[in-house]
Amino acid sequence: MQAWLLWLESWFRQQRDITACLVMSLLPFPLYLVFLLMPFVAMADPEYQGIYNWEVVPFIQIIVLLCALVLAGVAVYCWSRRRSDEDHPWLSLITVTVTFLVVTSISVAYGYKDSPLMLLCLGLMLLVRALFKAEVYKPISVVLGLMFLFYEIGFWTESLDYAPMLTQPIFLGDGLNAWWAFWLRIIYFGVAIPMLIMFMVLGYFMNREKQELERLVVMDSLTGIHNRSHFIACLDQEGRRHSRRQQPMCVLMCDVDHFKQVNDTWGHPAGDEVLKAVGHILTQSTRATGDVVARFGGEEFVVLLPNTRLSQGQKVGEKIRKYLSHHIFGEGDESFQVTMSIGVAQVNDGDGELALKVADDNLYQAKARGRDQLVAGLAHQRGSLECL
Ligand code: GH3
Ligand code: MG
Ligand code: MG
Repeated sequence: MQAWLLWLESWFRQQRDITACLVMSLLPFPLYLVFLLMPFVAMADPEYQGIYNWEVVPFIQIIVLLCALVLAGVAVYCWSRRRSDEDHPWLSLITVTVTFLVVTSISVAYGYKDSPLMLLCLGLMLLVRALFKAEVYKPISVVLGLMFLFYEIGFWTESLDYAPMLTQPIFLGDGLNAWWAFWLRIIYFGVAIPMLIMFMVLGYFMNREKQELERLVVMDSLTGIHNRSHFIACLDQEGRRHSRRQQPMCVLMCDVDHFKQVNDTWGHPAGDEVLKAVGHILTQSTRATGDVVARFGGEEFVVLLPNTRLSQGQKVGEKIRKYLSHHIFGEGDESFQVTMSIGVAQVNDGDGELALKVADDNLYQAKARGRDQLVAGLAHQRGSLECL
């Protein structure tokens, strides 16, 4: 079921015109057949012949039949080209216009207010919104709105009858007769069940999209680890928590050495591979829960180590530094190694911002001392850094 929904989701997101037209032309098709059939069934039964206004019936039946034939042609054409990725703006417009022509004709003919047909129009509108591009659903929404507006004006100025295909409206206020009790059930189920499924599926997709967006907001797209803003938020939150509990906390500021040279010598894609590997190494070298690793920007990475003293933070930093320095990138003659400098700082007073600044100062010192090394110091001793 999950795999099927995932397939459906990717299919929806592709917004291919051909499949959109195929669904739009086929999904409501059984209902068109029901509406085509109903007057014939009534005609055969003397008890129900009087339900229809037989002067209007042929006119509506011809519209429904012609539209159904066009939509059947669209479905056949779309099926034959079902793998096509091309845009089909005209086919989309024809499909949607003909669909709404038949549906509004039926809605007006049977009286859309006291039948499930308004529900059908809304359901189809939702389907158009989900399946088609804005060029299609925007004009169609306007046209549909105008059609109903004209009909309302016609009705209130008494130039148009309500439910002109019927001799009297479906609901007269004293319950349904057997005819409508039967057919309305079929129409209700034909409209309500697909709509319910559609709402559930669309709700599922929207939820997935929301989760994906929430994930993207806090992630770095290249390395797959967290980004700077998420790190700052965590630092602030953890800083306050640790200050309340008087617990130590460390931050590591890591910077790849001579990374520009890596790009210049081995190319930008190789540089990207190094950044991904650094992200992986940081994740592997820290605790999965509690610790936060993030790409701070460019080839700079940060690590937050809650409940960690400076000496422990230093050990983690050394582990990371050694891990990277032993890693071999590329193959054979094209292989190379990279190193990293790290500045470590401990936060004891909850001031994460200051700790970051101190870690950055320490990183600067590590670079000045020749790179591929770690310098640690306490954040609250910023004036006279204690370097280990
Ligand atoms: P240092 O040892 O002093 O840190 O020198 P460096 O060369 O590492 O530092 P510098 O700031 O001079 O260069 C950083 C380089 O990182 C420059 C920039 O093009 C590169 N860079 C930044 N972001 C990316 C990225 O997403 N991918 C790649 N491949 N390179 C990037
Ligand atoms: Mg660098
Ligand atoms: Mg840098």
